[in-house]
Amino acid sequence: MHPPEIRDRAIAMHAEGVPFRLIWQTLNLSPHTVGNWLYGERARRRRERIPDARCPRCADPPRLPEAPATYAYLLGQYLGDGHIVRSQRTVLLAVYCDNKYPGIIAEIEAAMRACGARSVHHRARIGCTAVSALWKHWPCLLPQHGPGIKHARPIALADWQEPIVDAHAEAFVRGLIHSDGCRFTNRVVVSGRTYEYPRYMFTNESTDIMRLCSRSLDRLGIEWRMSRRNTLSVAKRTSVARLDEFVGPKS
Ligand SMILES: [Zn+2]
Repeated sequence: MHPPEIRDRAIAMHAEGVPFRLIWQTLNLSPHTVGNWLYGERARRRRERIPDARCPRCADPPRLPEAPATYAYLLGQYLGDGHIVRSQRTVLLAVYCDNKYPGIIAEIEAAMRACGARSVHHRARIGCTAVSALWKHWPCLLPQHGPGIKHARPIALADWQEPIVDAHAEAFVRGLIHSDGCRFTNRVVVSGRTYEYPRYMFTNESTDIMRLCSRSLDRLGIEWRMSRRNTLSVAKRTSVARLDEFVGPKS
């Protein structure tokens, strides 16, 4: 018997489009074993096991996600630097995170689990880790999924998402800044004394995502300005202090 993590890994690679031969070679398994996992009887049953009680949106009537703040965080992460890849049989949600931030990597994993993922995988990329989970209901929870890159298509919240993002603006902004933002310190030396000015930045090519970010900041009373076409900056001391309450330096 192989541990279930190995089987999940094979299914995840398959969903990512890794060629069959490469999957069994990489995992050092027989093609027969991997073929069974991907195409066998259990795989068929796995596909046909509907409805999936874990998906709040497929419930009748649809429910809201059970952990709304965590959901708002995951939505922010997804809109920042997340990807949804559909294969014939399942859907992969992947969020990329710099290896410098193990705390954020753990938070993404916890959020995926809280929102319905059964198992979460970490895959090393150059300088970063892809945190990913297979679940065909990710597009139900993240209906912003669509063909092409995010900034080339309109991004709007679904009616049921709006109140969650409004009620959990802090978690949503935390997710956005953890993915596509940063906190940095400007140091200025005047007459031998060093003054430090912490700031926040959020960079995103999508004007729709930028609007969602600024709307949440407005709601939280945080002042911001666009320092560049694609970059929002928070520099006012009281606003930086407010962000520090629920974002802080990445770690
Ligand atoms: Zn669903």
